[in-house]
This record gives sequence, C-alpha cells and structure tokens, in this order.
Amino acid sequence: MIATLSIGAELMLGEIVDTNAPFIATQLYAEGYRVSRHLAVGDDEAAIAAAIRDLAASHRVIVATGGLGPTEDDVTARAAARAFGHEMVLREEVLTHIRAFAARVGRTLHPRNEQQAWLPATAELVPNPVGTAYGFRLDYGGCSLFVLPGVPDEMAAMFTATILPTLRRLLPSPPVLLTRVLKVIGLPEAEISARVFDLAGPGIEVAYCVVFPEVQLKLRATGSDRAKVEALLDDTAGRVRERLGSALFAEGEETMDTVVARLFREREMTLALAESCTGGLIAKRITDLPGSSAYFVQGVVTYANEAKERLLGVPAELLLNVGAVSREVAEAMAKGARERAGSDLGLAVTGVAGPDGGSAEKPVGTVYIALADTDGCRVERFRFGGNRDKVRIRTAVTALDWLRHRLLAR
Ligand code: ATP
Ligand code: MG
Repeated sequence: MIATLSIGAELMLGEIVDTNAPFIATQLYAEGYRVSRHLAVGDDEAAIAAAIRDLAASHRVIVATGGLGPTEDDVTARAAARAFGHEMVLREEVLTHIRAFAARVGRTLHPRNEQQAWLPATAELVPNPVGTAYGFRLDYGGCSLFVLPGVPDEMAAMFTATILPTLRRLLPSPPVLLTRVLKVIGLPEAEISARVFDLAGPGIEVAYCVVFPEVQLKLRATGSDRAKVEALLDDTAGRVRERLGSALFAEGEETMDTVVARLFREREMTLALAESCTGGLIAKRITDLPGSSAYFVQGVVTYANEAKERLLGVPAELLLNVGAVSREVAEAMAKGARERAGSDLGLAVTGVAGPDGGSAEKPVGTVYIALADTDGCRVERFRFGGNRDKVRIRTAVTALDWLRHRLLAR
C-alpha cells in the first residue's frame, strides 16, 4: 500500500496546482504499483505530523513532498520527527554538502540554509543532484516515509534516481498491468457504459474518462502472466470495437486530428474549409499537424455576410431570405469553398456560438455543418449545449468527425 502526501500552504490556498503527486502516481503506475491514498496539508507542523501518523498506520510506503527548504514555513522535517517520536539533530554531512553546493554555484551560504541540515536523528539521506535540500527516509513500524523537496524538478530527479529503485526492492513485485485507451465520439458516457460494462471482470477493469467532447474508455488488465494479460486486453478491446462501431475513432496515442490526417493521406483527397462560428478552429487543428499541406488546400473565415458572398459566392438574396445560420447558406458555403479551391471536399460550418445572437428560431448552440463532394452536399442542423467555447469545440470536433466518416466511406 502506497500513499502520497503533498505539503504546502500554496496548495491549500489554490495558488498552485499539485503536480508532484500526479507525477509520483504516474511513475508508480507505469511500474504496476498503485497509490491507494493521497493527502494534502498546509505548512503546519501538527497537521503534517497527524497526516503522517494517519497514513503510516495503514501504508507500507508514504512519499511526501514539500517544506524542506530554509524558510520558517518549511517544517516538514520537524513534523516527521514529531510523528515518529524522533529527535532532530544537526547532520554534519548534510551541512558539508550544503556548503559545498553553495560554493560550487558561487553563493555564500546564508545561515538559514543551515536549518536544512537539521533532520530526524535516524533519517537516511536521499541525495539531491539539483538543489540544496536533501530528502530523507524515515522508518517507523512497518512504514517507510520518504520526504522530498517540493520544487518539481528536484523532486522528480530524486524520485527517479533514488526512491523508485528503493521501492522496487522494498515492495513485493507488482502484477503485470497493461492499459489501453479507446476514444469515443458522439455517444454519451451512459450509453457507452450500457454497451460495454459487462466486459469488466476478473483481471480487467473498464474506466470512463470524459475529455470534452470525447469519452475515453480505459481498459486495465492485470495478472501474473504477461502473455495472458496481453491476450485478455486484446480480446476485450476487440469486443469494445464490435459494440461501439464507428463511434470509436482512435486508440492509444491517436487523436481525432491525427486519424483525419492519416485518412486524408491514405485516400489521397484534398480539403477546403469555410468557417464562420469556429473562427478558424478547424483550420488550426488541421494545420497543427506537420505535412497537412498535402491535403489541406485553403480555408476562409467568413464572418460577415458580405465576406460569404465575396469569398464563397453565397448569393446575397439567400443570406437575406434565410439568414447566415441556415441549411441553405451552410450548403452554399461548402460548395463555394470546394469549387473555389478545386478540392475533393468542401466543409463549412455556420452557427450561433453565443452568448448573444440567439433567437427563438435559432437559439444559441444552433450550428449547421455541410460537407460537399462530387456527389452533392450533406447538411445537418445541430443544437450544441454549453458556453461559447464548448459550442465552438464541439462544432470543430463534429466537423472533423464528419470528415473521418466521409474518408472511411470511400
Ligand atoms: P524550497 O527550498 O524551495 O523552499 P521546499 O522543499 O521547501 O523547497 P516548498 O517550499 O514546499 O518546497 O515548495 C517550493 C516550491 O515548489 C513552491 O513554491 C511551488 O512552486 C513548488 N511546489 C511545491 N510543492 C508542489 C507540488 N505539490 N506541486 C507542484 N509544485 C509544488
Ligand atoms: Mg519551502
């Protein structure tokens, strides 16, 4: 059982986001270990000591970070001594190191830095390759407490160099643990879970994680035999694919953007864009990937009606009669974009992103997406929820998903 403890007033005040605990958890998880409890406390000696005692009662290992520096708010070492009933002593070898470090970087040592050489009497030192603060290990009962400085790069260097190898010796070797991420678009979390929940069972977990606007399905398989764990993961992933069909758009490192890019290359087709409410978001996502010039010809952001006429040839009377946010205009934009670029596909989006501009007939979130090709044009009306940002992101991702389906169909 492993616990993490993040220490620092800034964490309690919301001034900084804790990145140390996630770093430690990720490193451990990659080796097959799981953190079973995580706590965070301010720079308060009694609170830190109480947290350490509490965690020590039920954990083999505690990895704590923060509060080892030279200032009066750095009280972690004293708190650790207090938690386990140890004396604080001046550790000569630490003092020597701190002085040597200061000399090496051309600094004169402030007397306050000497405070960092006061550590619990029986603490075993954890060297710091990058800074002055030492970390330490303190054992009590069945628990080993590791304390590291709060500064993320120092903490990370010490965790990888010393703590991880020590834990590998200390803890029983973990089971094989393999994870696969499957990414789904266009189905709500509840629907996904209804389709796949029964695939979880002995040795395999199914977890859901919303990364707006997609849902990531995480399959985690464990066991003692790697080949069997891999087979179980493959088999489960295969069943998920069957049950989710084309709503499953990517696996592992692939994203909607990279999938669309790959399909454009494979199908050797080209694209032109006409964007209104997304303001170039789709063009950005497409051109974020190197090599996109192979299939992306051009894109225009036509916000004003006049621009839709001039750059895309949308008829003025159409804009006047049905309005810019309409099926007809979306179609004219897509066709105009395709014709003017001479591309295989023309994709257009027009909508009301909000917060203003909605009406009873076309409320905020109303979006038309149109995709023109040689055979004609597909147009659909959507009503997306959420604020301006969410409407724009969902529009862009839905449009990219249309491209994916269109390219797959060929
Ligand atoms: P120092 O010698 O810098 O005082 P320290 O071990 O006392 O080191 P803290 O004072 O707790 O560490 O934190 C130093 C800085 O490191 C903080 O100001 C903060 O920017 C960063 N930090 C501390 N803890 C965390 C954490 N859990 N996640 C991310 N950053 C952190
Ligand atoms: Mg500090």
